[in-house]
Amino acid sequence: MEYIFDYSLDELKAWFKDHGESAFRAKQVFDYLYRGVTEIDEMKNLNTSAREKLKEHFRVTLPKVLDQRVSKDGTVKMLMLLEDQNIIETVIMKYHYGYSVCVSSQIGCKMGCTFCASTKDGMVRNLSAGEILSQVIASSVLVGERISHVVLMGSGEPLDNFDQVMKFLDLIHAKEGLNLSHRNITISTCGLVDKIIELADRKLQITLAISLHETTDEKRRLIMPIANKYSIHDILNSVKYYMSKTGRRVSFEYALVKGSNDGEEDAIALAKLLKGMKIHVNLIPVNTIKEMLYLPSSNEAIQRFRDTLIGHGIEATVRREMGSDIDAACGQLRRSYMENM
Ligand code: SF4
Repeated sequence: MEYIFDYSLDELKAWFKDHGESAFRAKQVFDYLYRGVTEIDEMKNLNTSAREKLKEHFRVTLPKVLDQRVSKDGTVKMLMLLEDQNIIETVIMKYHYGYSVCVSSQIGCKMGCTFCASTKDGMVRNLSAGEILSQVIASSVLVGERISHVVLMGSGEPLDNFDQVMKFLDLIHAKEGLNLSHRNITISTCGLVDKIIELADRKLQITLAISLHETTDEKRRLIMPIANKYSIHDILNSVKYYMSKTGRRVSFEYALVKGSNDGEEDAIALAKLLKGMKIHVNLIPVNTIKEMLYLPSSNEAIQRFRDTLIGHGIEATVRREMGSDIDAACGQLRRSYMENM
């Protein structure tokens, strides 16, 4: 049986036609699905034969919220149970402009970044486009409002699941679906250069965020194994290509770790690397993760780092630390949950 959220409207129309039903049934089904109605018998606009055919051919479910934690700042971190009993994390954040949802693109991750709890047990499998989308729909149902922004920054390396992530972008952008502008979607990558180039060639208006975290290949290799494959030089060239194709400004993520990469000389080195590029640096006070030894930088060190970047003409902000009281860093909650099973 196929997962219905993997289908676009056109695909569902074709399916209904092939199964002897009017194509307009597809739009009726879409209207139910995207409002979170997954009980086929509740799809009252459909005739009995269309409902029976749907039941025979499709899995029509949204991920179930297994556990949810609400932070003091309103961030909601959910553990979602998929049909195959795998568990993923989805985070809902409330901003002045609306709700933003951070979705997972894979179960686990094979990239091995040493600061990330998602990768500790390797990768289990890719999520399908519909499974990524279903996290957004389930979140919208939960908060009772439209989701205005989506970030692919949960567990998984989105560009390592390229085809499904591209399909997800089509599905979420479709006007009969959630009709979300690509400009409101951010893809975060550890720097898969060949895929950044492939994404650039599609000329989508996605915001690209690069997890950089260090200013030399040598130091980066110690925390991000992908640095053995792609150098910072390669990444910067691919980013320049991305910007030339899309006209979009790219973000660089830099997690500040006390005594490791948060010194004045690091800030100057970062500014030199990014000089002349139309980019933005997000400084992230690293969340303390219990199985790792990293300590967050002090507030003074963070401010100094930001001021140095700005002094060198680099736009930089300190990301608001959301949900730090509820294990909101990537993969942390899932990992705590699995340990206690
Ligand atoms: S930070 Fe991202 S790419 Fe690195 S291991 Fe974690 S999920 Fe994978």
